Amino acid sequence: LMTRDDSSLQSTALAVTIGAALTLLVIGGVYNAFFALAARRQFPAWLSAWAACMVVWGAIWGQLNLFVLPGMAGVMSAQICTALACLAVTLATVSAVTALDDGLVPQRLRMGTLALGGAIGLFGIPLALMRSGPIVALADILGIMILADLLAVAVALGIAWRRGSREARSFAGAWSLPMLVLASTEFIDTDHWLWGGGSYLLVLCAAAWQTLWISVAVSLGYSRLRVERDMALSAEAQAHELARRDPLTGLRNRRGFIETVSAMFEQARAEDKPVALLLIDVDLFKRINDVHGHDAGDSVLANIASRIIQWEDASCAVARIGGEEFAMMVSGLPRPALARFADTVRKEIAACDHSSAIFGVHVTVSIGVAEGAQVDDFRSLYRLADEALYSAKRRGRDRVEINSAAVGADTDHRVAELV
Ligand code: GH3
Ligand code: MG
Ligand code: MG
Repeated sequence: LMTRDDSSLQSTALAVTIGAALTLLVIGGVYNAFFALAARRQFPAWLSAWAACMVVWGAIWGQLNLFVLPGMAGVMSAQICTALACLAVTLATVSAVTALDDGLVPQRLRMGTLALGGAIGLFGIPLALMRSGPIVALADILGIMILADLLAVAVALGIAWRRGSREARSFAGAWSLPMLVLASTEFIDTDHWLWGGGSYLLVLCAAAWQTLWISVAVSLGYSRLRVERDMALSAEAQAHELARRDPLTGLRNRRGFIETVSAMFEQARAEDKPVALLLIDVDLFKRINDVHGHDAGDSVLANIASRIIQWEDASCAVARIGGEEFAMMVSGLPRPALARFADTVRKEIAACDHSSAIFGVHVTVSIGVAEGAQVDDFRSLYRLADEALYSAKRRGRDRVEINSAAVGADTDHRVAELV
């Protein structure tokens, strides 16, 4: 017996709370269904089914169904609610167990927990719908099964948590409040709480909390996974790039060069553009090493590389393909321009300042050039350029030779080694 104002306040508060909890459950259910599809994981789908089950449970308990099916009032509603509660235990158990990666928990515990969860649904749902027979005794058995199931899920989550499973942590956090609520309703008389909603409303709110918690946790976990995957991909790309770079000069190495210029060569041929390969070899470099030391030789190579890299652009790829050998692939230069370009390269490299490493020594290079017009593949282009380089060396160094016909004694061996 209460005043009209009190009564209207309480029923409004009850309706708002039930509505809010159901709305959260619906959002959580839909979210998890989409998440299951997007991440191709099983457990959010079970979670979504569990949330749907709780929504129906909450709607029936909140008597929303009476708008549609007034005949359901009374025992029938209560029985369906009990059956749905059993189904909810089954779905929650399956979602928790399937969230744990294979091998995280002993297989027996995994299968045992799943079997127990399934048995609760199979046994509990018909029991909830029974109207006569040894209902009390069977309900006691069901109660024991539910306790055993909760214990098994808790043990599985505990083991997986100890082994570092993030999902186990999320589920433990999500389940802790509903479990505490369930446990507390056993010991504390909550039936008169929350404007008469009592333990049911507590369970509904706890379920809303559970689905929200897991939705947030799985989203965080998923975005963390994506970050980790992106980092792994970028580390892989970095390793890939590093494997194709020469550490001393930062230029592409032989492997990186072959990859780049093979594509460039094919494209130039497809577009019918002239393409040329320049092999650049430092003259009498061994002597620099012998007289000034290996470190001075390294500095000379780095100086030359920093000059060579300045020519690199979309139509020119550069690399250090061997000890004191560099290469350039240029496309789009007709022959007269190519000859002038190669000679400019020779002169500019010869003009490099090496005074910080060696003093009073003039470092020159010889360049062998081959044009792509006469050849079908990069291997042949390299062979021609190498022959031209050999010829430049033979004719006195510090010069450019284009497509010399001379064949060096060890040319074949060197081509095989490079290409
Ligand atoms: P040529 O004019 O005929 O090319 O004579 P060269 O002395 O330049 O040729 P050779 O092939 O006889 O010697 C190349 C030398 O380059 C030998 C090797 O010790 C040196 N070298 C190779 N790689 C490196 C490197 O990374 N650093 C240094 N400092 N020297 C290197
Ligand atoms: Mg050499
Ligand atoms: Mg040399």
